[in-house]
Amino acid sequence: MGLRETTVTTTPRATTRPIAPDLFTWPAERPCLVGSRCVECATVVFPAADTCPRCGSAQVESHELARRGRLFTYTTQNFLPKEPYAGPETEETFAGFTLGYVELGDEVMVEARLTEPDPERLQIGMEMEMVVVPFRRDADGTEVLTFAFAPIDPEVSS
Ligand SMILES: [Zn+2]
Repeated sequence: MGLRETTVTTTPRATTRPIAPDLFTWPAERPCLVGSRCVECATVVFPAADTCPRCGSAQVESHELARRGRLFTYTTQNFLPKEPYAGPETEETFAGFTLGYVELGDEVMVEARLTEPDPERLQIGMEMEMVVVPFRRDADGTEVLTFAFAPIDPEVSS
C-alpha cells in the first residue's frame, strides 16, 4: 500500500491543511513546492532557508519550484521511519513506500515520497510531477496533506 493517488480538492476547506506552512502553494489548482533562491548567487534550496547555504548571504527570496522534474534516484523504505515521523502507520500496519530524489530543472534536487510503491515500475530519468496527497488525519478529522511525486504517464500526458 502506498500513498493514495486520489485527487484532493483544490478548494479551500476547513477540513484539510498542509503538513507544514510555506512548503507548497495551497490551495492551488497546480500546486508547486516553494523553496528559496539566493539573490546574490542564485542558488535554489528546498525547503526554503533563511540564509544561502552556498555563499552565506541572507538575501534570499521565496521561489516557486518547477512542478515537473526527472527521477534522479530512488530507494524503498521498508521499515517505519524513526521519530519524529508523524505518519499514520504503526509497526503492524506499515507496508513500505518509495522515496526518490527528483531533479527540478537545473535548479534543485528534492527528496520526496513517490506515489508509486512498486520500485519495479520506477525508472531513473523518468518524468515526475509534484502532487498533493493525503498524509494522515488529525484527531479532529482534519486531513493533513503532504507532497509527493508521481510518475507522469506518457500515454496520458502530452
Ligand atoms: Zn548565495
